[in-house]
Amino acid sequence: TKQNQEWLQEYVEDWISFYRKHTKEGKVASYIPLLAEANPDHLGISIFGANGMTLRAGEVDIPFTIQSISKVISFIVACMERGVGYMLDRVDVEPTGEAFNSIMHLEMRKVEKPFNPFVNAGAISVTSMLPGRTSDEKLEPMFQLLDRILGYRPQINVDVYESERDSSMRNRAIGYYLLETGFLESDLNITLETYFKQCSIEITVDDLAQIGLILANDGEDPKNQQEIIPRQVARIAKALMLTCGMYDASGKFATYVGVPAKSGVSGGIIAVAPPRVRDEELPFVDGCGIGVFGPALDDKGNSIAGIRLLRHIASQWDLSIF
Ligand code: GLN
Repeated sequence: TKQNQEWLQEYVEDWISFYRKHTKEGKVASYIPLLAEANPDHLGISIFGANGMTLRAGEVDIPFTIQSISKVISFIVACMERGVGYMLDRVDVEPTGEAFNSIMHLEMRKVEKPFNPFVNAGAISVTSMLPGRTSDEKLEPMFQLLDRILGYRPQINVDVYESERDSSMRNRAIGYYLLETGFLESDLNITLETYFKQCSIEITVDDLAQIGLILANDGEDPKNQQEIIPRQVARIAKALMLTCGMYDASGKFATYVGVPAKSGVSGGIIAVAPPRVRDEELPFVDGCGIGVFGPALDDKGNSIAGIRLLRHIASQWDLSIF
């Protein structure tokens, strides 16, 4: 296996150098001013296998803010705190086919519930359902879950939080709309403060790979079989990642890559390859979590080189769940 690992490591390094040139086709997010400072040439990947294999290449040590990937964490935590039934009564599980921050489709749906927890409307509604009266109280169970998964407590990047807070007109509009239609269960300002803070949690690709690994293993830590996320909640999170995780490019991602995934505008992607039943020869037949970081984005807000890299890896290692 050690030899196997060295050999696979060389492949992953080659793939990073090949796909790095695609970063030129994208642009870093600029609607949150501080995100515009990211280096568009960066591309990094971490792959953590349930078999203990670890592959890392490219810029793996650059911290970045979790952004929309936090929607997976807040939804999981809300399900754990409030119950799955409670959450699914209040937020739907259907892809929108619209941009992540779309407000139009909300209006058209009038009083029906937000489409899904991974677009801003649904995510802000979910955050309002977290228990607690202050943003710190609401964030606490998210930090506790991250601490259990990662083995350390990540921090909020205060500069990104402030930048996001001060450039948040669209999210405020969504918040007011949720308030009007009865889908906001906490004070609007507290909810938005919580949402901007959760988006500003700083992580690395290793952290994304580790979260992905736990999800691939249905919520259990493969090292010691401890349950970190209830199996039912992990399953729902993965179904939502597959159908809604890449915004309005989710269908293409499912078709060409074929694994549950979630992206964020800072250029992170978390991809989850669950265990496979066939072909013992494949390196990750027992499942793996993959973290990618590539801040140059395509027009949907997904890492442009990151998606291509994942597509290539998924086809090389037959990761598609289909
Ligand atoms: N904080 C960002 C926002 O709400 C997250 C969006 C994203 O990553 N797509 O605008």
